[in-house]
Amino acid sequence: KTSGPLLKIEGLSSGYGRVGVLTDINLEADRQEIVVVLGPNGAGKTTLLNSISGVARATMGTITFEGRDITNARPETVVRAGLAHCPEGRQIFQRLTIEENLVAAHIGRSNRSFEDLRAEVFDHFPVLKEKRNGMASRISGGQQQMLAVGRALMAEPKLLMLDEPSLGLAPLIAHQIFRIILDLSREGMSILLVEQNVQLALECGDYAYLLNTGRVRLHGDAQHMAEHSALGDAYLGGA
Ligand code: ATP
Repeated sequence: KTSGPLLKIEGLSSGYGRVGVLTDINLEADRQEIVVVLGPNGAGKTTLLNSISGVARATMGTITFEGRDITNARPETVVRAGLAHCPEGRQIFQRLTIEENLVAAHIGRSNRSFEDLRAEVFDHFPVLKEKRNGMASRISGGQQQMLAVGRALMAEPKLLMLDEPSLGLAPLIAHQIFRIILDLSREGMSILLVEQNVQLALECGDYAYLLNTGRVRLHGDAQHMAEHSALGDAYLGGA
């Protein structure tokens, strides 16, 4: 197996078309680690995930995964390499059932069967099993978020990228989602987590990066970041 970090981003600048968003980003995620990306609205957090998953374009720098260069690789190549992106806003198929949503997310990356992977998703989210034949549009916001995570898990990721999984959820439900994120990490998955809920994210994360105006302004151990008085300043301050 390759040594070095699972995901390594070096000197990355990226954006959309001619619009530059990120500048000189350096970031690493190790195996089994939960890496948190924090920052105010418009900081570039989503663009960072989009750059990794091949949706935004890198104009400088490199992204490697397991030592393999995936800079500007096509989204399907990135998924097949073992990175799954659970986008902001729970992009599920509203007019399909829960079960059909999982079928549509199964890419057959390994020789594990659909049934086997589905069983694992249902183990993490028993409520999805209960409602498997119901329309995705009819379940609660929290359950839709669970389904979005479940869909990402169907791709058997080594690294799971989650964009604001707690957005718009009641605190109790957000905690449930975070408990499952911790379970996944304990089972060996690496997590790259974009989150607005700073406290919750730093409680469960190992390492954190703070972005503002497209640059990494601060990074360190999550616990250290939680105690860092400059976090607030860096969070609110501009370039
Ligand atoms: P939020 O929490 O609001 O989602 P964010 O930190 O995820 O914020 P991004 O969504 O990455 O920030 O946005 C960073 C910048 O990129 C913003 O100025 C935004 O206007 C711009 N941007 C985002 N998506 C696109 C796009 N598809 N085309 C052009 N510019 C974009």
